[in-house]
Amino acid sequence: MGEKGKHTPYYELLEALESGCCALCYLGEQAARRYLQSLLYEGVTDVGVRQHVRAAKGFCRRHAWQARAEGGALGIAIMYRDVVADVLAALESACYEAVPVRRRLREWADRSLPTAATRGVVQALEGKEQCPVCAAQQRAEAMYCELLLEHIGDEAIARALQRGRGLCLSHLRQVLARVRTEEAFEAIVLAARSSFRRLLGELEEMIRRHDHRFIQELGPYGDAWLKALAQVSGERAGSESSLG
Ligand SMILES: [Zn+2]
Ligand SMILES: [Zn+2]
Repeated sequence: MGEKGKHTPYYELLEALESGCCALCYLGEQAARRYLQSLLYEGVTDVGVRQHVRAAKGFCRRHAWQARAEGGALGIAIMYRDVVADVLAALESACYEAVPVRRRLREWADRSLPTAATRGVVQALEGKEQCPVCAAQQRAEAMYCELLLEHIGDEAIARALQRGRGLCLSHLRQVLARVRTEEAFEAIVLAARSSFRRLLGELEEMIRRHDHRFIQELGPYGDAWLKALAQVSGERAGSESSLG
């Protein structure tokens, strides 16, 4: 149990910071999975929740297949029935609209211009809301980002930040964009410098060992390229961290 005033999200953040991956990627991913599971198994009966999936025209590509992995066959069928019905209705009322000749000539001259005659159906086929799982993930990332900044003066948090792999580039930018004090800025940048410096060293060592035909002896540097992918481009979606 936590100290007074430090509730579960604080300890989740602390644990995630000490893990071998970007804490915000990890926590955002976990929140997305929890949201998706509750959506598939409980939210299906909730008209309000289903409405978001419908307004978004289904999940984004990534979360659609994550939903499949969660095994929510009936839940998906029920939610996607609404979406498919809407798509069909839009297609049934779709028409090639009349457009002034001047506009048509401009479209012929400039292939990058969208076709005005089909604008109506294109809009009708678009989601009016973001993928609800992406939205849940972003809300969680923003919440943990604020929590990190709020507790950045904490010894435990600062130590975890130094010891862990550090934030990925995208989440580093997110945190720096919201930092409000110079002390917090220093703590974040110091930790980021050391984690990117460590990564650069590992990449150079991996490349050096390749150059010297030490391919059999990459040792701990063999996965430096994977660390670089995760730290620069974000953790692999749907990957299980050592935190489980
Ligand atoms: Zn990240
Ligand atoms: Zn999504």
